[in-house]
Amino acid sequence: MRKSDHTSPERLENEVELDQTLRPGRLEDFVGQQKLVDNLRVFITAARHRNEPLDHVLLTGPPGLGKTTLAFIVANEMGVGIKVTSGPALEKPGDLAGILTSLQKGEVLFIDEIHRVPVKIEEYLYSAMEEFRVDIIIDSGPGAKTISLNLEPFTLVGATTRAGLLSSPLRSRFGITNRLDYYNVAQLQGIVARSAKILGIETTPDAPPEIAQRSRGTPRIANRLLKRCRDFAQAEKKLAQHGGIVTLEVAQYSLRALEVDEYGLDEMDKRILQTIIEKYSGGPVGLNTLAVAVGEESGTIEEVYEPYLIQEGFLKRTSRGREATSVAYKHFGAVKKARGQDTLF
Ligand code: ADP
Repeated sequence: MRKSDHTSPERLENEVELDQTLRPGRLEDFVGQQKLVDNLRVFITAARHRNEPLDHVLLTGPPGLGKTTLAFIVANEMGVGIKVTSGPALEKPGDLAGILTSLQKGEVLFIDEIHRVPVKIEEYLYSAMEEFRVDIIIDSGPGAKTISLNLEPFTLVGATTRAGLLSSPLRSRFGITNRLDYYNVAQLQGIVARSAKILGIETTPDAPPEIAQRSRGTPRIANRLLKRCRDFAQAEKKLAQHGGIVTLEVAQYSLRALEVDEYGLDEMDKRILQTIIEKYSGGPVGLNTLAVAVGEESGTIEEVYEPYLIQEGFLKRTSRGREATSVAYKHFGAVKKARGQDTLF
């Protein structure tokens, strides 16, 4: 594991099981995202009342915030089954047709990374979503035939970290669209405490807030850091006097050893901020220029990294580009250089 992996919001190898164990199964156990949860509760109750499947749901937002969890909760609350796939797994129209025709009445089809569904397959989704029908072309050339297959009514739950890459015809076919936001420290603290209970990790009350503070607003990172703290509590000789309990001191020691930043910033966050400060004298620098400089797609910077940096006050979006704030300077111990009319601080 690279040291930066600890704060990567992406799911790491071997983490699928952890995610599943810690996933809340019902809306009432889902921490945070209050407005989204309240609305979903209304739509689910109404759909159940009418005995109809829930309208198609699109969930957008950075990785690790609970999109997959919510898809499973929707199925649970509707009392139906769920089939799971992802954009990159759907290579041929037949892959999609196979899944669609296997869906039972009212079931949920969850497509993760829906922005990566190939264009030629996306078109099959349109009639499936709108008319519960797929037209499959058999053979090619003059003998080609189209067969229409009727599907059971179902709910598509699509998740994406890159809402900007979704085509508008696809987006417009979702009746319910929600964006997930980063969690605040109090909410993450609740998630850490709950996970500790499920995993049988003993903590003192002051440890979860410390882990929460350094989890980049992301439940997946919070859960991962909790597990690493347990490892240190159990195996680091210097912490033996804590008896395997995750205390504040254990948490602080572990997070320092993992080189987790005080705000949980990951490698790319740091690279973005340091590039603006060091190469562009704090900005403003245009998004595309910044993207080339840090070696990441501009859309990913905009939709995956920036929102957290802006929320925490490290970065400002201006009409002339991105600017590092005084908070960013302070965090990196850098001094803003005088440029033109800029002042020193
Ligand atoms: P995404 O699909 O957005 O990448 P996941 O749904 O896989 O994120 O969530 C990642 C992990 O974080 C899971 O283990 C899940 O249990 C946990 N998690 C996410 N949101 C919440 C929440 N609101 N409450 C409790 N745990 C959560």
